[in-house]
Amino acid sequence: MFDTLSDRLSSVFTNLRGKGRLSDADIDATAREIRIALLEADVALPVVRQFTTAIKERARGEEVSKALNPAQQVIKIVNDELVEILGGQTRRLQFAKTPPTVIMLAGLQGAGKTTLAGKLARWLREQGHTPVLVACDLQRPNAVTQLQVVGERAGVAVYAPEPGNTDGGQTSSGPGGDPVKVARDSIEFARRAQHDMVIVDTAGRLGIDADMMQQAADIRDAVQPDEVLFVVDAMVGQDAVNTAEAFGDGVGFSGVVLTKLDGDARGGAALSVRYVTGQPIMFASNGEKLEDFDVFHPDRMASRILG
Ligand code: GDP
Repeated sequence: MFDTLSDRLSSVFTNLRGKGRLSDADIDATAREIRIALLEADVALPVVRQFTTAIKERARGEEVSKALNPAQQVIKIVNDELVEILGGQTRRLQFAKTPPTVIMLAGLQGAGKTTLAGKLARWLREQGHTPVLVACDLQRPNAVTQLQVVGERAGVAVYAPEPGNTDGGQTSSGPGGDPVKVARDSIEFARRAQHDMVIVDTAGRLGIDADMMQQAADIRDAVQPDEVLFVVDAMVGQDAVNTAEAFGDGVGFSGVVLTKLDGDARGGAALSVRYVTGQPIMFASNGEKLEDFDVFHPDRMASRILG
């Protein structure tokens, strides 16, 4: 995803090789090239501004080690700033004091929520947890079935009452039913069946939609989640920022999951979302398989970008 940005940055650093002390003009030129590289990668403007300002200030202040040559100094500053805009520290999941811990997933249709639900469940199961997946996407045909398939692959239980069971009100194949009731009931189910974690998959629409937002907010109120994870497709570029803002206002979330980092988009969404939302990126998905998933580490991502 970051190939072009990596190439651009590496040529900026190459231009600095062999230079002695950097003049103000050198620093300005470097900051300008980095700015262009970030803009071309589709990074949101406020993020680009903060980034280039920080680079100029720090390069002039020469606060970095005297043992580094100018090229190494700039690489160090860019690395530090990348880590910073990606969130600094790795942010771990918050667990409830009394189980079950409830994690709600929100995001647009196609963002990768259902796939992520399976990945997260598998990852938690490997750590000794006993998660249950909850099917609250009752809008998209086959969403429940898809979650059941994902659950089976991940080796975890799925809470989705049988078709015809009017108690939950939903069927496994189609629209209808009350997702808020399903969500609420699933918590009781988890307690009874001793699942220590509940992962609630919610419905998304192709675009931001007031009804969808309200439904997600109602589910949130019903299950009082310990974490609401906003799942966003990193391939959608600048649009990710608008979607994130809408979900932030409509539902609120405590963390971000970036999906499709294996794609060939320019990476700007990944670099902007933390700054724009103020919430940490917690996990990353980079493929369709359940194991294509990891905790998000800002420092590792920065190193990857710098090659
Ligand atoms: P939902 O509508 O948000 O539940 O999205 P889905 O989980 O159904 O995912 C939509 C599509 O994106 C599916 O075809 C997934 O296989 C695919 N997908 C999900 N995550 C990733 C990922 O990290 N990388 C790639 N390449 N595809 C993904």
